[in-house]
Amino acid sequence: MRLRAMAKINLALDVLGKREDGYHEVRMIMQTIRMYDSLDIRKSDRPGITLLTNLPYVPTDERNLVYKAAKMLMDEFGIREGITIKLEKFIPVSAGMAGGSSDAAAAFVGVNRLFRLGLGEKELMERAVKVGADVPYCILRGTALAEGIGEKLTPLPRVPECYVLVGKPGINVSTRLAYENLDLKEIQRHPDIDGMLEDIGKGDLYGMVSKMENVFEPGIIREYPVIQKIRENMEEHGALRAMMSGSGPAVFGIFDSEKKLETAAAALKESGLARSVFATDLFHRNGGTVDDE
Ligand code: ATP
Repeated sequence: MRLRAMAKINLALDVLGKREDGYHEVRMIMQTIRMYDSLDIRKSDRPGITLLTNLPYVPTDERNLVYKAAKMLMDEFGIREGITIKLEKFIPVSAGMAGGSSDAAAAFVGVNRLFRLGLGEKELMERAVKVGADVPYCILRGTALAEGIGEKLTPLPRVPECYVLVGKPGINVSTRLAYENLDLKEIQRHPDIDGMLEDIGKGDLYGMVSKMENVFEPGIIREYPVIQKIRENMEEHGALRAMMSGSGPAVFGIFDSEKKLETAAAALKESGLARSVFATDLFHRNGGTVDDE
């Protein structure tokens, strides 16, 4: 079985406060984009979980979210057979694009199918949150409002057709650093998420992009000005708006024409500001949980 684990961007990201258990309350508008890792999942004669990846620096043991997800379901259902998962990564690692979370989501879906466990989407999502706050969303996919720690999800209407350019500079930002650099009392600009919900409801792309805001961005840009430079580069070359995704450092730009997207992709490559540049579009939820390759 071959599954696609899709990346996400945050069209808006707000942090409302810190809970007693240490998790943060967030309010975010999530969007899946057509950038994905590929998981090949099959039964194997070798007992346990064998995970292989194309990137030497990604762990293949319990630290990998794919491993965690598969183990959680297999333990719960007392599965003694072995599985082999080949994970091919294309989503930049530690970029703010939920690569690991999405891989875990695909592992939940894959193990459920492979062993015919019969779990529905909601039941998978309830388990998924134990692996990571963004994993339930990565099972749902499409456009959604995420609240709570990111696990309370409301599916939203499709965002109007647009194009997305992703540029990732050659730096790593941990989610922990993003939270450390965020002083909740000092947040100057909170995104107008309710306004963005209205724009999405009306299919107003221009209204929607005008409200793009990420509370992590100022603190991370202060430390890594290259993020600001990538934003400016995209906006100078036709992006309606560009912004950092999640806790960064990946930056995405939204375009209303494919031609502008291509021009901006070439300009960003030329600038040397980003280590990886990827031009794509949105991925919409088609009713099903996951589509095979
Ligand atoms: P998020 O947007 O959810 O904050 P991210 O893009 O910042 O995610 P990931 O690429 O999901 O970050 O993962 C970053 C860390 O998690 C890395 O340090 C990596 O070692 C570990 N990790 C665990 N499982 C995976 C996986 N399947 N793919 C990539 N990294 C993984």
